[in-house]
Amino acid sequence: MNKFAKKFSIPHNDIAKIVMDGPDNFLGYDEKLEDENFFYNVITNADQSYRDEIADIYFGSSFIYEYGGTTRRYGDVMGKEATEKQIDNLFKIQEKYDIPASLTINQESHPVEFIMDEDVRNGFIKWIGEFYERGLRMCTISNMDLMSTGLLQENFPEMQWKNTVNHIVSNVQQMVDLINLGYNIIQFDRSLNRNMTELRRMSKEAKNRGVKSILLASEGCMPYCPFKTEHDTVQPWVGSTEGKSYFGTLSTISCNKWRAKDDIFGGSTFLFESLPRIGTQCEWDTNERFDMYNDLVDNFKFSGRLMDLYGGSKPESYACWSYKTSDRKNIFIARSFKEVYDLGTGFLSQWNGRGYVTTDSDDLKRYDIRNSNIRKKAVKYFDQIDHIYKTEAGIKMCKALPNCKNQCWDCHLCEDAYGLEHFDSLVQINRGPNPIEYKEIL
Ligand code: SF4
Repeated sequence: MNKFAKKFSIPHNDIAKIVMDGPDNFLGYDEKLEDENFFYNVITNADQSYRDEIADIYFGSSFIYEYGGTTRRYGDVMGKEATEKQIDNLFKIQEKYDIPASLTINQESHPVEFIMDEDVRNGFIKWIGEFYERGLRMCTISNMDLMSTGLLQENFPEMQWKNTVNHIVSNVQQMVDLINLGYNIIQFDRSLNRNMTELRRMSKEAKNRGVKSILLASEGCMPYCPFKTEHDTVQPWVGSTEGKSYFGTLSTISCNKWRAKDDIFGGSTFLFESLPRIGTQCEWDTNERFDMYNDLVDNFKFSGRLMDLYGGSKPESYACWSYKTSDRKNIFIARSFKEVYDLGTGFLSQWNGRGYVTTDSDDLKRYDIRNSNIRKKAVKYFDQIDHIYKTEAGIKMCKALPNCKNQCWDCHLCEDAYGLEHFDSLVQINRGPNPIEYKEIL
């Protein structure tokens, strides 16, 4: 089997349906998404080689129930979720292309009534059962208590249960504990992207125990971020009281200081945002570096359910992988990740496989690397570009990253590569004057 088959776990664009109070367009996208088929179309129109590399498509939904005299919601934490039509479409994709739809219930606060109240518990099981009837066989579930009761496993024997990355499973013991609770797909903590030694141990044991492993390929959060617990728990309430996401509100006193100027969804030329130490994403600067990770895990997960990935698509648009410079002077399109890899030029993590669609028009003639002239152009381009990956300090940094464990205070290879003064912690950035003009909370 080719090593890219069913490799990537990708997000569904859960941006069409609002599930919290507040303005409809709290994400602030320019275009209103009225066509609920846009995701279905871009996947259906994609090349089969693109679809062959998709392990699953995950989406959010919420269970609404009555308790204590109030109507409550449990499940999705983003404030947006897939519409009924989109869920139908996901099951159509599953049926047609053998790409599992994967329900995501990743709320980090777990109301006690799910365990203590029989009606709520049964209602929740019935709700999952409706998805099961429609064909759902994969589900992320953060509720350890429910998994511990065994009720879900008993009611849905064919379901594959995934833990959430927010369980921070970062060593073998934690993984073994979750397997014994009934999880059969283990999503590893993001810290393992920078801890090859432990990743190897976990990979070996996951294989021994016949469970599937997933590593986050894209991750923009600060390693061991001190704001993370608060971020994960407040998101549903920020949505309902402010009608906005975390990134339009509380992040102005946390990660917007060292990340993008406006929010994570906008473009940024802010230098600190380029530093690998700002997140833990896999840096696949070469094919060998990709292989090193790929040999150890079954899937790579890309985050981004709320990103405007396929916004602007037309009914005939299709998903693909692309490399695009911010001035758009250099654009290359690949139909699959294998084509990116086979190009042999490295820079694999700079290609975007879940955020680009194109329409079968001039784009193909101009940018498709299947065309030998474009391919030659791409090879020449990557050979000649000035990039930090190619400098002595950059090569040193890339070599260190897979096992550096993000002890940046004592390392500083990232700052050396990017020509920045050493600093101990990201939280030091922009504590004083406000050079990037983030919106202050006074
Ligand atoms: S500064 Fe060092 S420890 Fe921190 S991310 Fe870069 S290479 Fe890793």
